[in-house]
Amino acid sequence: KVSSLEPREDHRICVCVRKRPLNQRETTMKDLDVITIPSDNVVMVHESKQKVDLTRYLENQTFCFDHAFDDTASNELVYQFTAQPLVESIFRKGMATCFAYGQTGSGKTHTMGGAFSGRDQDCSKGIYALVAQDVFLLLKTTAYEKLDLKVYGTFFEIYGGKVYDLLNWKKKLQVLEDGNQQIQVVGLQEQEVCSVEDVLNLVELGNSCRTSGQTSVNAHSSRSHAVFQIILKSRGKLHGKFSLVDLAGNERGADTAKANRKRQLEGAEINKSLLALKECIRALGQNKSHTPFRASKLTQVLRDSFIGQNSSTCMIATISPGMASCENTLNTLRYANRVK
Ligand code: ADP
Ligand code: MG
Repeated sequence: KVSSLEPREDHRICVCVRKRPLNQRETTMKDLDVITIPSDNVVMVHESKQKVDLTRYLENQTFCFDHAFDDTASNELVYQFTAQPLVESIFRKGMATCFAYGQTGSGKTHTMGGAFSGRDQDCSKGIYALVAQDVFLLLKTTAYEKLDLKVYGTFFEIYGGKVYDLLNWKKKLQVLEDGNQQIQVVGLQEQEVCSVEDVLNLVELGNSCRTSGQTSVNAHSSRSHAVFQIILKSRGKLHGKFSLVDLAGNERGADTAKANRKRQLEGAEINKSLLALKECIRALGQNKSHTPFRASKLTQVLRDSFIGQNSSTCMIATISPGMASCENTLNTLRYANRVK
């Protein structure tokens, strides 16, 4: 049903929702699927007879977005309606950004493609690989061939308000603002890439760096934002840039109160950055002159993607289908609703 629509291009901020299938654990626990996608842009969270906790029952709620994808949608389909319409803009000196937002375990990394390279036959390519594929196709078209563009990749992580280079052993980097209010991540590795294969190698390198020394992959990755960028340069000067952002998990569980101090600080930092992101996207959408990008490191380093006429943004809000995730799912849908 979704595929009958044409991707829209007139929209600066496209907000989509993607529901993942119930996983093994949820099925074993007999968790219920409480999400339906009755049409290609509507998400319904269903009322249940079960109590969420001692005091509250869930209510039926309906949300509308640019697109809503059910658990049968492929990465390719999601890509077609989100990041793909923005790819060509970076050849026209534009800045494009695609965010994956949602609870830990809801499918952000699955969508972006960070967990796997897309080389294996049994898993589909993620958005990193799909953007790269189109970038290299466009590079060879007659319209853009003559621009003499080179393609570079960067991959970094923002954790606790600090920036770490995932292509350089998690080296901690300084963020500076020069006299022209240009933001610079000093020393960030920009690796030239000549093929999709090169891009996938960078993704793999960055991911192994991201998770090294961690006891649990999700424990760390859920608390940091990962930013993968594809940069076009013309004779050494920036031409266009696509930032693909796998955001930190937005869940703030009931256990925050008893969590240790480190966790509390992490949580506060994530809340701050996700709030700042929402405010920046809203300011952008309303064409406000002031964008509060300084409110967090995340928005600060993405500043050049937020300002200027030539920037476009999309967000993929990923949701878990289970009853047990309902509170987080509603929070995700409300946030996504606010930025659209
Ligand atoms: P997040 O990055 O949001 O924490 P992940 O992308 O790691 O979540 O997804 C958690 C698990 O669910 C992974 O094992 C992933 O393969 C699986 N998953 C997520 N989304 C989908 C989907 N749309 N279809 C099938 N499996 C999915
Ligand atoms: Mg993840």
